[in-house]
Amino acid sequence: MTARDSGRTTTIWRDGELVPWADANIHVMSHVVHYGSSVFEGVRCYETPEGPAIFRLRDHMRRLLDSCRIYRIPMRHSLEALQQACIDTVAANGLRHCYLRPVVVRTGEQMGVLPTGVPVETFVIAWRWGAYLGHDALEQGVDVCVSSWRRAAPDSFPALAKAGGNYLNSQLTKMEARGDGYTEGITLDSFGFVSEGSGENLFLVRDGVLYTPGLGAGILNGITRDSVVRLAVDLGYEVREQTIPREMLYLADELFFTGTAAELTPIRSVDRVEVGAGGPGPITRALQAEFLGIARGTIADRHGWLTRVALPADVPEPVTAGR
Ligand code: PMP
Repeated sequence: MTARDSGRTTTIWRDGELVPWADANIHVMSHVVHYGSSVFEGVRCYETPEGPAIFRLRDHMRRLLDSCRIYRIPMRHSLEALQQACIDTVAANGLRHCYLRPVVVRTGEQMGVLPTGVPVETFVIAWRWGAYLGHDALEQGVDVCVSSWRRAAPDSFPALAKAGGNYLNSQLTKMEARGDGYTEGITLDSFGFVSEGSGENLFLVRDGVLYTPGLGAGILNGITRDSVVRLAVDLGYEVREQTIPREMLYLADELFFTGTAAELTPIRSVDRVEVGAGGPGPITRALQAEFLGIARGTIADRHGWLTRVALPADVPEPVTAGR
């Protein structure tokens, strides 16, 4: 059983309607099946003392609209309607915490690459998902490699669109890393500079300064990345967005991934070279505590990142502490 199966829920939002999980189907002739024409988001809803709260919902839905715009996908739902769709999906499934996957697909039955006139359908799916990079990842850190696969060149696949097709590259990176005994792979961009993980952005710490690749390095403009930059500044650290040569990975005092699924995951080694003194460093720990504290509602939401979800009255009280 996969993590996804075990987290299966009951209800999916489909273009304004809440439909049973089993009915949220598309046809095999759909454009997306043949040509990869989809864009999507990954959003987390955290359990907080005041009930479920979706993290940076507006920013995620804005990025979904940006992805549609890049691929000229006509989106008929507004920013507000998409936010409400996510809230309704959490409430309809009675979830105290979950991962949300809004996805926009080109469907229809028209063959041929040109997507003009092809129907577009939007879904929001919710499921229960724990730590993406493994149970101990947040605490112990993960072992990673530099992938032999490169991130797509800037004039090939636009990295700022969170498009399904981009994840073919991510799959190659991830399969290679796993096959070689690592948890994740770091890709270099088409110029050979550090880009990101297969589904995470990357930060490096050296002498108390944080470094992260800029938007020109073939990265997704991560919302967790942005959150961590803001929190680092709040905590008084300098953050430099800049070109990062591969060898800086081996010189870092601390290294960590950021992402909605990965949250803030320390990196323990790169290519079997131990990072810093081994184990997650103090700046990684401080930022992780701040990030998770705000997301889980135990530290004040000073940036206004949480959107509360009111659950129906008949949802049972939690039996375990969730995220
Ligand atoms: N890069 C890639 C390729 C990703 O898939 C993700 C996950 N969405 C990220 C970075 C991190 O982005 P975010 O923090 O917005 O989840």
